[in-house]
Amino acid sequence: MRNVVLLGPPGAGKGTLAARLSQELGLLHLSTGDVLRDEVARGTELGRLAQGYMSRGELVPDEVILAMVRERVDGRRGVLFDGFPRTLAQAKGLAAFAPVDVVVFLAIAKDEVVRRLSSRRVCASCGAVYNLITQPPQVAGQCDRCGGDLVQRPDDRPDVIARRFEVYERDSAPLVDHYARQGLLVRVDAGRPPEAVFADVLAKIQG
Ligand code: ADP
Ligand code: AMP
Repeated sequence: MRNVVLLGPPGAGKGTLAARLSQELGLLHLSTGDVLRDEVARGTELGRLAQGYMSRGELVPDEVILAMVRERVDGRRGVLFDGFPRTLAQAKGLAAFAPVDVVVFLAIAKDEVVRRLSSRRVCASCGAVYNLITQPPQVAGQCDRCGGDLVQRPDDRPDVIARRFEVYERDSAPLVDHYARQGLLVRVDAGRPPEAVFADVLAKIQG
């Protein structure tokens, strides 16, 4: 079982791809954004610490994220990392406790991610991800899986989207070269429908 990292700007489709890929490959889907949102919802100490950073579109400090991920990996092999690492310090921290076998970079234009994020809706109960334009629910405002209410993430407002993209370019985009230099990078055109992205990723990482 390999450890796989999904890299790409906010809205590239990491979570959408990870849901299918983790099932297909039998990997543990570890989304740091999902873990943090759960901590916020439960009002834990970590959640209270993370909330301010998240609502502004800033990154939660590296030490906090590394401790959180390390605890969940716990020596396990076969993890699909979604939204982590997001800085060089996180990549180096990860390398110290788990090997990375392949990194999938979801390449996509900025105007397309802005469009996707502005029309993203998530289920308030189960966290399933929809899109008003590209992946609408069967019944408006209602989750197909559990019937929960579909809501907009507070950080999917235009000003926060812009900030998240800046932070991505400054802190996370350098990871593309970092992993390319290690010969681990697989680049995929993420501007296509989910089915095409999924099939391409499978072919490229299994081949
Ligand atoms: P990320 O986890 O990278 O932030 P998501 O998986 O949440 O991205 O996707 C962002 C938005 O774009 C969601 O509304 C999702 O339904 C939609 N989406 C995801 N992948 C695609 C795709 N390949 N084509 C069109 N829309 C997509
Ligand atoms: P995401 O769900 O990946 O879009 O992440 C939502 C928010 O959670 C980000 O804007 C950050 O504030 C925080 N976050 C998620 N993953 C990380 C990470 N690896 N490092 C720092 N902050 C993170």
